[in-house]
Amino acid sequence: MYGRIINKVLRNNLIGMKGEEVQLLIDFIDEKVEQGFIYINSYEFSEYSGIPKKRALQIILSFTEEDLLFTPKMFLGCPNCKRKTNIYGKVSTCEVCNKDIILEESMKHQITVLFKMNFLNDSSSQFTYIGIVDGVCSDEPVLLGTRIRPKDVVHYGSKDEIMEDFNLSSEQVDECFEYYKVSRLE
Ligand SMILES: [Zn+2]
Repeated sequence: MYGRIINKVLRNNLIGMKGEEVQLLIDFIDEKVEQGFIYINSYEFSEYSGIPKKRALQIILSFTEEDLLFTPKMFLGCPNCKRKTNIYGKVSTCEVCNKDIILEESMKHQITVLFKMNFLNDSSSQFTYIGIVDGVCSDEPVLLGTRIRPKDVVHYGSKDEIMEDFNLSSEQVDECFEYYKVSRLE
């Protein structure tokens, strides 16, 4: 599917991508999707492909225009819990520990830009209760209306225990297991 999108983009190939570079990008995306990731990183693409860092970034950036393959998102290591969290403005709330983060000048070099693979929204649309909500749980799939991720419940205990402790319906729990199987998040 994304191979087709890439080909469409290549017709207006402003940065002169070679066929070889296109194939490396498709292979890299395939591998990341297979592993259950929803973001890619231009440094990893550079390592994977042997394409120099600047060129790897240029290639990925050329697919970030509206409605295309990737959306750039900024992340920061939380000074409190050290986990990576989305940042939105000068003050953000850590999605892991819920503490406020005040973005200081000195933190700017610690910001990581990751590229969200937009086409993955399509694969989660086969689910009724699970989806990706912008800005919730670092854009990982969650049970809609909650901050519960499928991976939070599937190793928790019996189905009854999950329903009771997370206050979920039988259908929601079934779908978590189904989702987990399909997306191979393990
Ligand atoms: Zn935190």
